[in-house]
Amino acid sequence: MFVCGPTVYDYVHLGHARTYLAFDLIVRYLKFLGHRVNFLMNITDVAERVVQRAERLKRDPLQLAREYETAFLEDMKALGIKDITRFERASDSIPKMITQVGGLIDRGVAYESETGVYFEVKKFPKFGQLSGLTHEELGLRRLELCSSKRNPEDFSLWRKYGEGLAWDSPWGRGRPGWHIEDTAISMSILGDTYDVHGGASELIFPHHEAEIAQAEALTGKVPFVRYWLHTGLLNVEGRKMSKSLGNVVRIRDALHESSAAELRYYFANFHYREPMVFSKEKLTKAKQKLESLRTSLSQFLAAKPVESTKEKKRIDTLVSKADLSFRRQMNNDFNAPGALEVLHIFAGELARFGSRMDQETKETAEVSLRRMADVIGILS
Ligand SMILES: [Zn+2]
Repeated sequence: MFVCGPTVYDYVHLGHARTYLAFDLIVRYLKFLGHRVNFLMNITDVAERVVQRAERLKRDPLQLAREYETAFLEDMKALGIKDITRFERASDSIPKMITQVGGLIDRGVAYESETGVYFEVKKFPKFGQLSGLTHEELGLRRLELCSSKRNPEDFSLWRKYGEGLAWDSPWGRGRPGWHIEDTAISMSILGDTYDVHGGASELIFPHHEAEIAQAEALTGKVPFVRYWLHTGLLNVEGRKMSKSLGNVVRIRDALHESSAAELRYYFANFHYREPMVFSKEKLTKAKQKLESLRTSLSQFLAAKPVESTKEKKRIDTLVSKADLSFRRQMNNDFNAPGALEVLHIFAGELARFGSRMDQETKETAEVSLRRMADVIGILS
């Protein structure tokens, strides 16, 4: 599984948390089911935004990127995101990108111009399939204005830069395009085809569309990725959270006012695909609901077990039913809001039946509840 990582030119905010918490929950559930998950994330340290920020601050771009990378990793840890198997920086994978760009030229789908190397979109007729955009619409969404491209829809694989952050290549000194960074990293580690590729829904076009074109044109193997998962946007009072709108809440600032478990509980209230709203009111409500879940758990734990229970069968059924309902919700495209409801009902039942259970039954029930809660990342 590969998920697009952050561009490390600033602190990450709750919009990032929305995506990374969603994939953390998905990985936790896959592990709950007994799967082993190889979860790779790239770190985009070679990017225009990094270079521009560094220029403004008169700093070395890769050094600046390293600082924000460290901050990002701290924030992920603080949120309880611990299942990412490997991080890979773009700057450590430049030779792999050069190899892929060269391969695309050899296959006749990319060309060199004055300003760089471009992928010729019309040579890949499937382009647009993931986003569902027609060829006309693709033409209208003109990317990267540049007079040396053959067609407006062609996208950059390599940009020529005589100075600054740049590496030598067969096409002169320069930097890779954003899309080729991700296929070079993911395919060199996970192979030509792999199971899951994730990211925020705003990356579907052009980023992921371009990744499919690069990968499939290069290897001829279809599909490049078996499942594409995209997270909905995070909105603040009806608007996207973004720097340009000035409504950004950094993850580290949010963690001053809420615990990781509280934020995780709140985010799990929204299905990963849906747009979600961040509001203080809703966060307060979520905190109360998490507290009620904790109260049920402590009532249950405080109950003194009986010597032997006459209701063992009934309780066993209750536990297995909760487990089944939880799986049913999560198997339905990772329906975390539904899974949370199951947890609430189950915890309430355990609080009620706690004093009628024997020690062994009680332990089994507790393990079952905690395993489910661990998927959401709460109650631990
Ligand atoms: Zn990406």
